[in-house]
Amino acid sequence: MSVLIYAENAAGKFKKSTFEALSYAKAIADQNSTNLIAISIGDVANDELAVLGKYGAEKVLNVANDKLKNFVNQAYASVIAEAAKANGADIVVISNSFSGRGLAPRLGVKLDAGVADGAVALPEQNGGKFTVKKTAFSGKAFAIVELTSQNKIIALAPNAYKVVESGTTAPVEDFNIETKASDFTAMIKDIVRATDKVSLPDAEIVVSAGRGLKGPENWDMIEELADLLGAATACSKPVSDSGWRPHSEHVGQTGIAVSPNLYIAIGISGAIQHLAGVSSSKVIVVINKDAEAPFFKVADYGIVGDAFEVLPKLIAAVKEYKA
Ligand code: FAD
Repeated sequence: MSVLIYAENAAGKFKKSTFEALSYAKAIADQNSTNLIAISIGDVANDELAVLGKYGAEKVLNVANDKLKNFVNQAYASVIAEAAKANGADIVVISNSFSGRGLAPRLGVKLDAGVADGAVALPEQNGGKFTVKKTAFSGKAFAIVELTSQNKIIALAPNAYKVVESGTTAPVEDFNIETKASDFTAMIKDIVRATDKVSLPDAEIVVSAGRGLKGPENWDMIEELADLLGAATACSKPVSDSGWRPHSEHVGQTGIAVSPNLYIAIGISGAIQHLAGVSSSKVIVVINKDAEAPFFKVADYGIVGDAFEVLPKLIAAVKEYKA
């Protein structure tokens, strides 16, 4: 038995969520007194690969294949499944990222494994039972699932487990497998970045605004605050439906689910469908002129006030703090 973790990269650099998944996988390997192997797919430099050792990987499998430079769901799932089989890994850990959510069910089928996606805590292993706490209903509830199969896939929710340094560097080995044409029925040919700003699903801080901002012309304040904080910008559904902001910023039940360390909600009422996508944020700050706005019920900090008065003061305070 061993544990395999898929170390996802973005443009050749490992993401924070990868180090979280790695630290989490290391803890599972320790729980089971077994070893932890990492697999990286794509174009990642050797010194970056070796860094995986710092967070617990004892060996890094490197799949450097031109066809696999960009993420291809079926092909990546095939490679990870083959690596799991070749290394006797019966637990595979991945991040519950965009790509991870595509990989998890495919890995489940290929490895005849039970899948726990959106895991938020280490598995409990008592009396032969293997249970995992995971988010359910877009973050509105938690479910405890029991994985009864021999092989298990766990996709760790972002920001659910802290990064822990536990080693030094890891040896890197090439892992080559024949790719099948049937794994390449849909391929990314080119990536065109829509923005240079922090990507919303990966952001540690999100500054989000709703209809309380009155119109798109008032988003300068939101962008200024976000830039100062190194945050991503987001919005409520009606804001993107009205064309004030792009749909890629819409968070909630029908939009992107985020779980940053800090979510600042400005002029958003806090409807259940919005909260579904943001309630697993670590700290929620709400700015709303209506003290009865439902968002205050889930807020860690709240400011009852007019955004047009509060925001300029907040921006000035952040500038002063950073000076
Ligand atoms: P409003 O409800 O209009 O609230 C505006 C808020 O701004 C109010 O609380 C008001 O007090 C405050 N405000 C006004 N002026 C100021 C000011 N000057 N300063 C400070 N505060 C001010 N919504 C989502 O966001 N995401 C989803 O994924 C989503 N999915 C949905 C799915 C379904 C099936 C349905 C039916 C609805 C969905 N909705 C979703 C819509 C959701 O129900 C709400 O209508 C929406 O979230 C409200 O957006 P809002 O808070 O920006 O606007």
